[in-house]
Amino acid sequence: RPCVSGAGEIRIDEEAGMFKVRGREIKKGDIISVDGSKGEVLFGAVEMEQPELSGDFAALMVWADKVRRLKVRANAETPLDVRTAREFGAEGVGLCRTEHMFFDADRIAAVREMILSETKAGRVLALTKILPMQRQDFVEIFTIMKGLPCTIRLLDPPLHEFLPHSLEDVEAVANATGLDKAKLLERAKDLHEVNPMLGHRGCRLGITYPEIYEMQARAIFEAAIQVAKAEGEAPVPEIMIPLVATEKELQILKDRVDAIGREVMDHEGMEIDYSVGTMIELPRAALKADEIARQAAFFSFGTNDLTQTTLGISRDDSGRFMGAYVEQGIFEKDPFVTLDQSGVGDLIKIARDRGRATKPDLKLGICGEHGGDPASITFCEKAGLDYVSCSPYRVPIARLAAAQAALS
Ligand code: PEP
Ligand code: MG
Repeated sequence: RPCVSGAGEIRIDEEAGMFKVRGREIKKGDIISVDGSKGEVLFGAVEMEQPELSGDFAALMVWADKVRRLKVRANAETPLDVRTAREFGAEGVGLCRTEHMFFDADRIAAVREMILSETKAGRVLALTKILPMQRQDFVEIFTIMKGLPCTIRLLDPPLHEFLPHSLEDVEAVANATGLDKAKLLERAKDLHEVNPMLGHRGCRLGITYPEIYEMQARAIFEAAIQVAKAEGEAPVPEIMIPLVATEKELQILKDRVDAIGREVMDHEGMEIDYSVGTMIELPRAALKADEIARQAAFFSFGTNDLTQTTLGISRDDSGRFMGAYVEQGIFEKDPFVTLDQSGVGDLIKIARDRGRATKPDLKLGICGEHGGDPASITFCEKAGLDYVSCSPYRVPIARLAAAQAALS
């Protein structure tokens, strides 16, 4: 399903069932077509065709692959996306956003039960229900990726995102699941944050609710060993901690992941290779990369958040003014689409230099949206990153752009 986000000019009148844009009124039932690649919303039903991977396409990709240095991975978590990414030539998963798995119909009730629990024991009980499903997610990813590296990010978004908000939604969820309506409302109010993107999210969740990350780490190790035993080839999980700002956060969480790994490997009687690394998405993390690298086997630049935190621009609200900023030449391009090379790019170079000064073999990648943008890929090539990771459908473009960047 394609999406055009940040369409700030559209005025929606929900009650009247219509929206207005550029003097045009579109009513409920009218057909529009959405071109998610170009970011266009078109009036009416346009003619469409299924994309085909022709022989010429394959030949071009072979030429590109011969000259590119950068590896290309995909941001994917569903089996369909992981398979699509593989078919498009992705050389691994660069970002598996585990929160997307928490929204599945078969587990959202247990996730909500976990969030509503007031005690650790209650949360652990709810997480026990999620563990087998989460393990199965990873089994599928590892099986499809056949030994290629898979970076799995532990839970990132603030917990309120998993709860219903409006009274209507709360009622619907309470009726459907038997969860207590008053408790749901109270917890949603409790978890409300003024600025959730800078709030109780990312590794801060792991620090305060260790049982969540422990369940996820267990699911990853158990899945990796299950696949290693079934396929004879061991996957190499890369466990990634989001929104780290300090070495200590990563140290605490890495120690816990390592402890779970030890426990699972001892129990299963099998050793597997794995690594623990972090996203670099906060300016402090980039500046203190020398310290953070002591705990990390890899850095993945989360340039969506790094752009947001460096520019102090909310990625969810920039649509209101970004058009004017680009029009007036303040930014040449929307920095959430094309990397702000002179600002955010400098932080990436600082993190690269400081991180590699501590650990010369530190693996470096990018997994923000910029990982599929050709101009940003050129920057990544010149900055000497090891890989870019982008949405499955951008993988061929990324392969070509990486080749062009290597030759430029
Ligand atoms: C990022 O911040 O660049 C990133 C990849 O993480 P998310 O978009 O999930 O916040
Ligand atoms: Mg992020």
